[in-house]
Amino acid sequence: MAAAAVGDDVYGEDPTVNELQDAVAALLGKEAALFVTSGTQGNLCGLLAHCGRGDEYIVGDRAHTYMYEGGGAAVLGSIQPQPVPTGDDGMIDLVAVAAAVKSPDHHYARTRLLCLENTSDGRVLTMAQMEDSAEVATRHGLSHHLDGARLWNAAVALGVSPAEAAAPFDSVSVCLSKGLGTPMGSLLAGPADLIDEAHKWRKMLGGGLRQAGIVAAAGLYALEHHIDRLADDHANAARLAEGLAAIDGVKIDSCATNMVFIRVSDEIVGNCPDLAEALAGRGVLTDWKGPRSRLVTHLDVAATDIDAVVEAFAYLLG
Ligand SMILES: *Cc1c(COP(=O)(O)O)cnc(C)c1O
Repeated sequence: MAAAAVGDDVYGEDPTVNELQDAVAALLGKEAALFVTSGTQGNLCGLLAHCGRGDEYIVGDRAHTYMYEGGGAAVLGSIQPQPVPTGDDGMIDLVAVAAAVKSPDHHYARTRLLCLENTSDGRVLTMAQMEDSAEVATRHGLSHHLDGARLWNAAVALGVSPAEAAAPFDSVSVCLSKGLGTPMGSLLAGPADLIDEAHKWRKMLGGGLRQAGIVAAAGLYALEHHIDRLADDHANAARLAEGLAAIDGVKIDSCATNMVFIRVSDEIVGNCPDLAEALAGRGVLTDWKGPRSRLVTHLDVAATDIDAVVEAFAYLLG
């Protein structure tokens, strides 16, 4: 990062940012890509580029773009979200999607876009699910966007290339700062004209950066070194789930890719009312909200750390 060649990316003159954008576009099989500050900004630039004022996008009712991005599309783009039910496998109900598409009528918002998320709470959508969704989008004349903040995990879990996992979509946002472990940064990839439009929105959202090559260099490193190793995070999550499941009163709600959702029974919660603090005292930082919480493995967590986490839970809850 310190050695990165830099320039002014507001003028498209940062060679490292340009290299990263080209690399991600190629990796995702898209014409172009745009470096943005965060996953939220990537999704928002995508939504703003796809939809205009009074348009509508269809999205899962538990999706990050719908639930956890401050309603940005509605606030900043006057884009109406149309949520549809999300199943326990993380996939949205495509029958509900088809039913939610509005016919051309002056009473209705114009349905423009269908959004999926993969992975979703760690769960992996299959190629068939994504292709079925693309088929529904095409049939109804909608564009198709993927919130792929964790697309890399999905591709590794599916055993496909990132381009194959991105193929059913017109546009895809990906994060460098989640599983890939860089300090910051995301990209939006898609057709050149859409990315050009997104570029204008990025500027308006305050996402035009100067010598961003410093962080883009971390992204280039991560693309080369941190994608295949996501399989280790997945194995560590499985090891964590297996270890925790062996504790009386602990139930694993789901474990997929690098996320473990656990639930602790009322009886054993009483054994340690302030679990977060007690875990922290043993060197395990969580945002434990009990009785249900999410544990995530990542590149700074080794298999031996997993065993220490399981031991801490067993000691405190046992
Ligand atoms: C983290 C995340 C985002 C948003 O990324 P930020 O960089 O935190 O803005 C979007 N979608 C999903 C699925 C995420 O996990």
